[in-house]
Amino acid sequence: MKNLYPFFSQNPLDRLDATRRDKKEVQKLQNLPSSKFLLFFEGNLLTQNKQYLFTQQDLLTCTYNKEEIILLGEDKNVHYFCLHVNTFPSNLATAGLREFALYVKEKSLGILAQASSVLNWHSSHKHCAECGANTLMEHAGWRRDCVACKKEHFPRVDPVVIMLVTHGEYCLLGRGVNFKENRYSCLAGYMESGESIEEAAKRELFEEAGITGGEVTYIASQPWPFPSTLMIGVHVKAKTKEITIDPHEIEDAKWVHKDDIKQILDGDESFGISTPRKIAIARNLLEYWIK
Ligand SMILES: [Zn+2]
Repeated sequence: MKNLYPFFSQNPLDRLDATRRDKKEVQKLQNLPSSKFLLFFEGNLLTQNKQYLFTQQDLLTCTYNKEEIILLGEDKNVHYFCLHVNTFPSNLATAGLREFALYVKEKSLGILAQASSVLNWHSSHKHCAECGANTLMEHAGWRRDCVACKKEHFPRVDPVVIMLVTHGEYCLLGRGVNFKENRYSCLAGYMESGESIEEAAKRELFEEAGITGGEVTYIASQPWPFPSTLMIGVHVKAKTKEITIDPHEIEDAKWVHKDDIKQILDGDESFGISTPRKIAIARNLLEYWIK
């Protein structure tokens, strides 16, 4: 959808696929004084006074595995890398990505999502799923190879459908069992094997709220780096209106009129409903609908 850019969905980098295979070239790029490094410690971004791009010189103050530096890509002749560090100096602080994202220029947020997701994949794929032996980073971080059976493993992304469900002038909002008080959002769920986006949307809608979905159209998508999800935002036109919730999945669901959604998005608390923060694609979907 034109002009709909969820958080993390804009990434200016050329990912330099061909360069990834050339170890010497990658090393050369790492050593350029202009190169920038995103540092993570135990899954959190390292920052210094809201700044999160470090230089090769800054790396000297940290300890890390030199074989595990990932090439993210290039933009305007600057090359970006990311890595996990084992220790860092006391002038750096850890920051949660959800909160820190609000300080980052929108057009750079995709770089953060890319770095966080791929690093997370590496930390959970140190062993081969085929034979259990160790794996080593290859292709500048975009593959891991098993040292024993040589199987190649690639970073994976988990697709989730998130739905703007409407029936005339009403839209369906649900409350997950772990949501904070008054928070309602669009229904969402992981896609399953052998399922199209349309099928997943209708299945989730019926499982969670007992509603039969009709036409499904794509709206926008969002890389969601917690840890490595792709949110696929769709519009589902509901064929039925009666709600039967699955209490294992959601606590409540309700139809809310378009005019009320407008007021709720504007911050009106009198409805007892708070909508997702602007970091979430659910908010983009609701804003898209009321426009
Ligand atoms: Zn193996």
